[in-house]
Amino acid sequence: MKILRIIIILIVLILLLLGIIFFLRAGNLRLNASVSKFIPSDKEETATFSRRFPDSIVITIDLCPSSKPYNKELFDYLDTLSKKLGYPIPVAICPSGTWILKHADELAKIKSLDLDIAWVNHSYSHPVDRDFLNNPKINFKYEVEENLKIFKKYGLKPSKYFRFPGLRSNKKRLKELAEMGYIPLGANAWLAKGQKIKNGSIILVHGNGNELQGCLMLINYLKEHEQDLIDGKIKIVSI
Ligand SMILES: [Zn+2]
Repeated sequence: MKILRIIIILIVLILLLLGIIFFLRAGNLRLNASVSKFIPSDKEETATFSRRFPDSIVITIDLCPSSKPYNKELFDYLDTLSKKLGYPIPVAICPSGTWILKHADELAKIKSLDLDIAWVNHSYSHPVDRDFLNNPKINFKYEVEENLKIFKKYGLKPSKYFRFPGLRSNKKRLKELAEMGYIPLGANAWLAKGQKIKNGSIILVHGNGNELQGCLMLINYLKEHEQDLIDGKIKIVSI
């Protein structure tokens, strides 16, 4: 009889534990679902996001064409942070096609990390001259679709988001983008440009080796707030 009682107590405890885990996971999923509805596509929406979700931050990392090696320190730190928090942290990574073609080994390393990655199209060749993709001579559709082909070739599941190079867009490009079924992904804390991380920030850094300072600022911010992240006072949310 005593053994039976112990078994029943154990079963009750296990069920209670499973219930708590389910409750916490459901809460987390609900948060992500509610946040993703409000992911900003322009300046106004970015500001609205920050007001609505003051305890949440979104991490976005652009990989524009670069001859330099990627910022290994940043990616490795994010991997370590996932392990500390006990789940893969959500990160939006925005590679351009020409970065992927020159950095296949680095891409493979990023894919192998303990991260919940949303892959965001960042155009194929990432034009810069004459106001980035706003340059009327650029074949915008080609830039989007060619990068999509590269995503598929390298096994990257494309999200519905598009990150405009230089965060530069105009009405014409936004209309064309919507017709292709994408949502532009904005940002309001481009660290290397001096924009600070606040509550509710959409953070932008370049992980392509060209923005060491920005990456270091992000690492330092996350290190300083590690306990708040562990306690859930600050949440890193997915797009
Ligand atoms: Zn870029």
